Amino acid sequence: MYDVIIIGGGVTGFAAALYSGRFKLKTLVLTGELKGGLITWAKDVQNYPGFENVSGIELAKKIEDHARRYDVDVKLEIVQELNKQGSIFTVKTAEGVYESKTVIFATGTKVRTLKAPGEDKLKNKGVHYCALCDAFAYNGKTVAVIGGSDSAVIESLILKDVAKKVYIIYRKDKLRAEPINVEKVNKLDNVEVITNTNVLEFIGEEKLEKVKLDNPYKGDEFLKLDGVFVAIGHEPQSELVKPLGVKLDEKGYVEVDKDSKTNVEGLFAAGDVTNRKFKQAITGVAEGVTAAYWAFNYIQK
Ligand code: NAP
Repeated sequence: MYDVIIIGGGVTGFAAALYSGRFKLKTLVLTGELKGGLITWAKDVQNYPGFENVSGIELAKKIEDHARRYDVDVKLEIVQELNKQGSIFTVKTAEGVYESKTVIFATGTKVRTLKAPGEDKLKNKGVHYCALCDAFAYNGKTVAVIGGSDSAVIESLILKDVAKKVYIIYRKDKLRAEPINVEKVNKLDNVEVITNTNVLEFIGEEKLEKVKLDNPYKGDEFLKLDGVFVAIGHEPQSELVKPLGVKLDEKGYVEVDKDSKTNVEGLFAAGDVTNRKFKQAITGVAEGVTAAYWAFNYIQK
């Protein structure tokens, strides 16, 4: 029997594990793969206090290594079911069933797809979701990023060093990313923002050749592109907690209070999967350690 099972191995999950290890709680982290979560898609993290510039991969690894200095178990197993009988949680994976007094749910989000015709067919053949992972293939080429918030602008700042030309295609009239990054984009000669425009279709046989727009650009409803990076946000990975009767908001994010408590006793949630609006590595970490503290408090009572 564990005191705490943490589901999710991103920075939030391992920050929670670090604190719960220090609280001497018997702790298990369950995570499908040890990839470090979404922060590892960030080439330069420049807003994590104490680190002026660190890669997302390095930051995630440091937090994981730090947690592993304490007595916490880590298993690379995908959770299939989460149940509660009386006050005890049972967590089922393909490899086994684990029991715990509390659970910290930190499963994060997955990227949202545009769900436009041609997107599935051309995935990884010109349609991508991570510039850091795939930008290298577009040296000297013409690409576009779809979206208008932080992810889209950060993707364009990665692509501008590789591609000849980068369009940002945004459905509204003004980018709404962090002003400091919008200013950077506006100063670049090879980045151009196309506003009030949606991509309706991805077109190409073996690989992407062009996209169809709902608002013609320079008189043409088609825009020739070598690659497109879709950066239109994320969807919560909250399916697992639904059977427990956990309250979700209208978009499926787990509702939590300021102590990272959900409406189910003993179940805490932290990081991007929650309904908190400001989602950063640092806020996820803070929510994770808050969850660990209140799990400790709950067990003591
Ligand atoms: P987001 O803030 O949810 O923005 C998604 C963007 O995609 C919006 O501009 C949205 O348009 C657009 N969009 C959504 N669905 C669309 C569709 N079907 N067709 C066309 N456009 C669509 O997502 P995010 O940028 O990934 O950011 C998520 C959270 O992480 C935010 O809180 C963000 O601040 C944070 N974040 C922070 C950093 C950083 O620290 N530097 C980096 C990345 C992300 P509308 O504007 O019209 O809604």
